[in-house]
Amino acid sequence: MKAADPYLASAVMRRLHLWEQLTDDSTVTITSQPDSEGSRLAWTVERALPPSVPLHDDALAVVLADTVAGPGLTADADTHRCDQKECVQTFASGGLAVRTVRREGARSTRQRTLARGTSAILHERQVIGRPVGEGPGGHVLQLIDDMRDERRLTHAAEQLAAAWAQQGLCTLVLRLEGRDSLNDEQPWQRSRLTGGPGAMFKSTVNYLNDNHKAVITKARAHFDHVIMVKHQSVDFPWAGISPLADDHLVVAFGGFPKVTRSTTVHAGKLQRDTIELTPAESAVAWLHGRLARIPFADVPITGLLLQCAPDEHGPNSFDGLVDTELARHGMPVLGRLPQPKLFTPCRTVLDDLPDEQRAFVLRQSAEIRTSLGPARADGSALVVALRELSGL
Ligand SMILES: [Zn+2]
Repeated sequence: MKAADPYLASAVMRRLHLWEQLTDDSTVTITSQPDSEGSRLAWTVERALPPSVPLHDDALAVVLADTVAGPGLTADADTHRCDQKECVQTFASGGLAVRTVRREGARSTRQRTLARGTSAILHERQVIGRPVGEGPGGHVLQLIDDMRDERRLTHAAEQLAAAWAQQGLCTLVLRLEGRDSLNDEQPWQRSRLTGGPGAMFKSTVNYLNDNHKAVITKARAHFDHVIMVKHQSVDFPWAGISPLADDHLVVAFGGFPKVTRSTTVHAGKLQRDTIELTPAESAVAWLHGRLARIPFADVPITGLLLQCAPDEHGPNSFDGLVDTELARHGMPVLGRLPQPKLFTPCRTVLDDLPDEQRAFVLRQSAEIRTSLGPARADGSALVVALRELSGL
């Protein structure tokens, strides 16, 4: 029989920040009592979560098993109980039980401070998802839009890059400019981040010079993600789609139309009617209205990154049904981000957002990342599609 387990006590008590970082605004109660045989202390951690957070979190077992950021405990097999009321998992042969329940009543006032440190340690390993020693991911993503609105594209690129950096990755926002005066070896400038173990950089390259390909190859070797925003001087959105990128996302405003109008003349008077759209009609109207100058029907594009208010987008909501239709047209919605603010005094990208929106951006960015294809993808099919489109 084992006596009191000092390691377990230390694992639970000395890493209090782990419990706080697992979930924003959770209330954590830690108790201990002799186990049934009275031979050692059994610890119970009760986590009470706000209503919006799912009770079960895969990160819990990952964190407690982590030997660097966490206490390195082993999860007990077959003891995990999970239902709508509680999630109970035990570790270290029953020495620690973690019970997660729903918290009733008022919100705590601690949310602001806790949200800051969220997920930096805990989600890093999950998000990176690459074996040690394999090197940076080297993925290149290009953001394009219908409006040639660089500010919109840059904002989306910086939000993604900052969110991925907070989740432990190394990211570069690379602006491609067609300016002869631009020296083609611009330094990578590190951006200020609020937290997280990753880093975010920005740089600019002249795409008129053939050397920009070498710059992108070099960036692949240094960064997990390179997000390209190309400044275009010509008014053909397809001309800006670069085969140097592995994935291409169209950034667009995400408000889907629910109605359309008709105007007729009756006895010399105008008659205006409103016609409700089905989700399928809305999807087609949106595609041809919003993306009129993007060759989405002829060129393989990974999907959409929509900027909108972080409302509900459940699978059965109108927007959710439109999303399904857009996927049928080969343009799946990979994620949503808040609309850019025109002027912000904040020097860091995610700082100007309220806590809930920042959590939303982090969640959506992680989601978008899972939908991207492999790095160093073969771009030849894209080149064929672009050539066919331009008639070359
Ligand atoms: Zn569970």
